[in-house]
Amino acid sequence: MTTIEVDWTRCDAHGLCSRLLPEKISLDEWGYPIIDGRVVDPALVQAARKAAMACPALALRVERGAM
Ligand code: SF4
Repeated sequence: MTTIEVDWTRCDAHGLCSRLLPEKISLDEWGYPIIDGRVVDPALVQAARKAAMACPALALRVERGAM
């Protein structure tokens, strides 16, 4: 199971994650991400990792956990 989370101490509301992973992340009115559930669908794992690597604040964490 792969999960995605935002480190709110780092997130600066750049909004890039939403553009790279629109299936999972939308933005609130201030540009902060709203994540649609922690668990990432297997088909979206690669895109989630790309979004995490692209986050300018290194605020997006994608982790693979135990089932
Ligand atoms: S790209 Fe990073 S800093 Fe920007 S909104 Fe997403 S998590 Fe926050």
